[in-house]
Amino acid sequence: MPNTTPNILLIYTGGTIGMVKDFKTGALKAFNFKNLLNNIPELNLLDCNIETVSFEHPIDSSNMNPEYWVQIVEIIESHYKEFDGFVVLHGSDTMSYSASALSFMLENLAKPVIFTGSQLPIGDLRTDAKENLITSIQLASLQEKGKPVIKEVCLYFEYKLYRGNRTTKLNAEHFQAFASFNYPDLAESGVHLKINKEYLFQPNLKRKLKVHKNLDTNIALIKLFPGISQQVIESVFNTNNLKAVILETYGAGNCTTEKWFLDVLKKNILKGIHIINVTQCSGGSVMMGHYETSSELKRIGVISGKDMTSEAALTKLMFLLSLNAEMGKTFKTTYEAPLRGEMS
Ligand code: ASP
Repeated sequence: MPNTTPNILLIYTGGTIGMVKDFKTGALKAFNFKNLLNNIPELNLLDCNIETVSFEHPIDSSNMNPEYWVQIVEIIESHYKEFDGFVVLHGSDTMSYSASALSFMLENLAKPVIFTGSQLPIGDLRTDAKENLITSIQLASLQEKGKPVIKEVCLYFEYKLYRGNRTTKLNAEHFQAFASFNYPDLAESGVHLKINKEYLFQPNLKRKLKVHKNLDTNIALIKLFPGISQQVIESVFNTNNLKAVILETYGAGNCTTEKWFLDVLKKNILKGIHIINVTQCSGGSVMMGHYETSSELKRIGVISGKDMTSEAALTKLMFLLSLNAEMGKTFKTTYEAPLRGEMS
C-alpha cells in the first residue's frame, strides 16, 4: 500500500507566535523554533507527517521585505515535490502583504500555502496560537483522491480561512485580526471544518509551478486626505527611478478635482509612470466615472485597482513591473485583470 499520509512543511519566519518576553526590557522578541515545537506536543497527534524549517534569524514581520519573500518561495520551490502542503508561520503585522506577494510569485501553484500566526505567544496561557497552527496544518493536509483540496495561498486566523491576497489586518488586539471584505471565507472551523469549495481557486493543473523571484520596488503609495499639498504629491512623483504610484482615493475611487492635482497626474502618466487607483475603504470597489470626481482620472488613463486591497495592489505592482519589459503597452490591461483571484 502506498503511503498516503500527507507531508506538511512548516516554515517558521518569526512573529509573536514564537516570541518570548525579554526579562530585562519586557519587550517581545523572536526565539528559537525548536522551543515552539516543544510547546505543542499536540502536533504529534495530527494525521500527517510534519517537517520544519526555520529562518536562521526569525524576524518580527514589521521587518519583512521582498528579499525575505524570495527566501520563503525558495524554501517552497526546493521542497515542492516532497510536500503536499506548506504552513508559513509569520507575524500578523505584514502577513497580508506576504500572502499577497507569494500568490503572485508562485504561478500555477497547485498545493496549499497557508499563512498563520497569533496575537499571543504560543507559551501564553490564553494563546490563540495553538488553534491557528493546528487547524492550518489540518487544512493544508486535506486531500481528495490523493490531491490537495486547497491549491492557493491562504491566510488562516481565528477560525477562518481566507484567500491570502484578499485579506487585510484590521485589529491589533482582537483574536479576529484579519478580514476579507471583498471575497467570501474559503473555510470555517467550528465543530467541523466547513470548506466552501465553490470559492476555492482552481489553477490550471496542466501547468507547472513557475516561481518568480524578481520584484520591482520602485513604487509609492499615496493616501489622499483633505488638504494634502501639491508639494507633498510632487515630491513623491519626483522620486528617482519611480515607475508607478498607487493612489488610495476616497469611496468608489474619487479624488479632488483641483487643477494642480490632475495636472501632476496627467504629466506623470505622459512620462510613462503608471498610476493605480484603489479605495481607502475596507470594502467595495473603485468605479472610475461613477462620480464626476473620478471621471477625469479615467480619461487620463489612471489604472483601476477595482476591489483589490492595498496589499494586493502593491505586491501585484511589484510583480508586474518586474515583467514590464515583456509587457510594454499591455500593462494597464494586464493589471486590471485578475491573475490569482485578487480582484473580482
Ligand atoms: N509584531 C508582530 C509581527 O508581526 C505581531 C504578530 O506577530 O502578530 O511579527
